[in-house]
Amino acid sequence: MTGAPTQPLAGRIAIVTGAGRGIGRAYSLRLAALGADVAVVDRDLRSYEEFELEREAMWAGTTAEEVETLGRRALALEVDVTDPGAIDAAVAEVLGAWGRLDIAVCNAGGGAGTMEETRASCVSEELLDVIVQRNLYGTIHTCRAVARPMKKQRWGRIVTISSQAGRRAYPDGGYSVYGAAKAGIAMYTRYLAQELGPYDVTANCLAPGYIATGRLMPLFSSLGAKELLGSIALRRYGTPDDCAGPLEFLVTELGSYVTGAVIPVDGGSTL
Ligand code: NDP
Repeated sequence: MTGAPTQPLAGRIAIVTGAGRGIGRAYSLRLAALGADVAVVDRDLRSYEEFELEREAMWAGTTAEEVETLGRRALALEVDVTDPGAIDAAVAEVLGAWGRLDIAVCNAGGGAGTMEETRASCVSEELLDVIVQRNLYGTIHTCRAVARPMKKQRWGRIVTISSQAGRRAYPDGGYSVYGAAKAGIAMYTRYLAQELGPYDVTANCLAPGYIATGRLMPLFSSLGAKELLGSIALRRYGTPDDCAGPLEFLVTELGSYVTGAVIPVDGGSTL
């Protein structure tokens, strides 16, 4: 691959799911700033309009338009990753448009329900289904779809997204299924790395802590900011950009000998 040192991903093609707002948007913009063309995938690319913090961050109509503003090509794809046929079709569209696929960030996900509703012994069948589908199934559907072209071209970088909830249980058992699904993503990624290593395709997992996004700030406030911040060594919430740094490491030459790793991005959180 060619490109100036400041554009280490020039010529690379990336796909980011859950990229319409929040951390997925930051991943997309970082990849574009590093020179990659980006397929921006979300169920609704304008869902950021729901949250003041996300509206304020946006500088164009959608993340895809922001990528273009940075001088890169973008594809805007409204896809639900819980539908395996739809994510297969999205990957086919990327290959049809740009001929290859180098980097995949399987970021779509998130919790559902309140802490009380999601306690380990009483979570409903409906929430169990929504949370596992959105996080674990969506990630596996995406990884399967992107692994095929990456194996064929014998190069690829896959990054999945777990959570600190997938490494440590919250004290009252709330968010249990989300934690279990995120732990599943971390373990699945280790298996994926073993399978794909011989093809020079790496698979790694980021496990963010408390990252200040529009959807989650109200939850953090309800949990008690003082207690929460006191449990973080760096004494601040993370930002979406704090997550984009480790992503950059994993998908550029810096991380070429790293695979099967689960990397906490949590400011030293102990809660
Ligand atoms: P956001 O909810 O702000 O953004 C996630 C985006 O993914 C939303 O646009 C959401 O759309 C979309 N999405 C959800 N499900 C699907 C789906 N099935 N198909 C396509 N798109 C979907 O979340 P964050 O930016 O805060 O988090 C991003 C990732 O990081 C998630 O996987 C989350 O679990 C993880 N994470 C976040 C932490 C944090 O503190 N923020 C901490 C640990 C992990 P919709 O509007 O429909 O929900």
